[in-house]
Amino acid sequence: MKRLSILGSTGSIGRNTIEVISSHPDKFKVVGLAANNNIELLKYQIQALRPEIVAVFDETAAEALRKMDLQVEILSGEQGLVSVATHKDADMVVSAIVGSAGLVPTYEAIRSGKDIALATKEALVMAGSIIISEASERGVRILPVDSEHSAVFQCLNGRDMNEVEKVVLTASGGPFLRKKISELDSAAPEEALKHPTWNMGRKITIDSATLMNKGLEVIEACWLFNLPPEKVEVIIHPQSIVHSMVKFIDGSMIAHMSLPDMKGPISYALSYPERFSDVLPMLNLAEVRELTFEEPDAARYPSLSLTYKAIRTGGTMPCVLNAANEVAVEAFLDNEISFTSIAHVVSGTMAEHKAFNAVTIEETINASNRAKSKAAEIVESFRVGAGLKPARTKRM
Ligand code: NDP
Repeated sequence: MKRLSILGSTGSIGRNTIEVISSHPDKFKVVGLAANNNIELLKYQIQALRPEIVAVFDETAAEALRKMDLQVEILSGEQGLVSVATHKDADMVVSAIVGSAGLVPTYEAIRSGKDIALATKEALVMAGSIIISEASERGVRILPVDSEHSAVFQCLNGRDMNEVEKVVLTASGGPFLRKKISELDSAAPEEALKHPTWNMGRKITIDSATLMNKGLEVIEACWLFNLPPEKVEVIIHPQSIVHSMVKFIDGSMIAHMSLPDMKGPISYALSYPERFSDVLPMLNLAEVRELTFEEPDAARYPSLSLTYKAIRTGGTMPCVLNAANEVAVEAFLDNEISFTSIAHVVSGTMAEHKAFNAVTIEETINASNRAKSKAAEIVESFRVGAGLKPARTKRM
């Protein structure tokens, strides 16, 4: 019986994780749950799963949940998240809090020796060097939940990395793959949130429309598989059937395919090294008929180039890129800036930052917070149109 703490249990990954484990009640026990403020869903999850500990980041929401008298310890704030992540009875932590809020609990889970099923790519983007060295020192396994990294992990299957020529991450291209570039500036959040193939949380869905998500995944792949950025390529594959590929030095290539459903990679991370049966319906290639691939267009997806620039600069630059993107995406979702301004906010924040090697998580978080303040200033200047591009008209 594997005992799990689920960070971000109310999100898209969290809910899919609970679906997977609910099909295997003999194999998993949930000991901890954590979320931000969705206490209605948490209440239901607590009643269904009977965890030993729960954390709600938002203090007011935590207090409201305590009043529901659910016979479970309810903590709050970052310390609450860390208590769930490090609970003595958890063998594995599913890390699925969106954004930089997931870094500290994931890091503390690793420090307390828990294996990690990692969805929160931001942890590796912000502090890859610290996370990977801590995990290797403590003998902690980081199993990828991201479908692309799960695909690469399955294609590699323990092979010698000297045999690997390149890793190729596939991207659907998002909802704006065929939209005129001249029309991107006026794209509304509701349009950007309509992902053609995947059903995900709001932030990652916007990141998929800009391809920032793929850039963050390039950084994640570099850390997970110990690869330089030149060895990680991105290709557009609108059908989202091939989840990624590995090219080998002899000219051969192995690809991983399945229907696009996160229960596949989540299940593999939880069951590894075994496989559960009947997780997804079997893929029927004759029905799919067409698998197409194309190069990403740099003019359509400037965020992708920014991520390569950040990883080549190294040090705190990927962390700053991530922080600025979080601020910019939130501003776009709040109708404060236009879709194309997201990349401008990120590049403007990166231009103001002098990268250094952060050796502690505290230094990393400080760099992230400073970058968020800078990005917020840039958002403000876009919003009021002070010298930069004007913001889109605010919708009522
Ligand atoms: P969602 O927006 O659906 O869910 C986010 C989760 O994080 C919710 O449980 C939310 O709680 C919680 N949360 C947000 N802020 C805090 C906080 N400060 N403290 C504690 N909990 C917090 O996101 P996704 O599930 O889509 O994504 C989660 C992570 O997984 C991201 O890093 C994403 O990049 C990655 N990922 C997602 C994929 C997907 O298919 N969705 C695929 C691959 C990776 P609440 O509900 O209370 O707000």
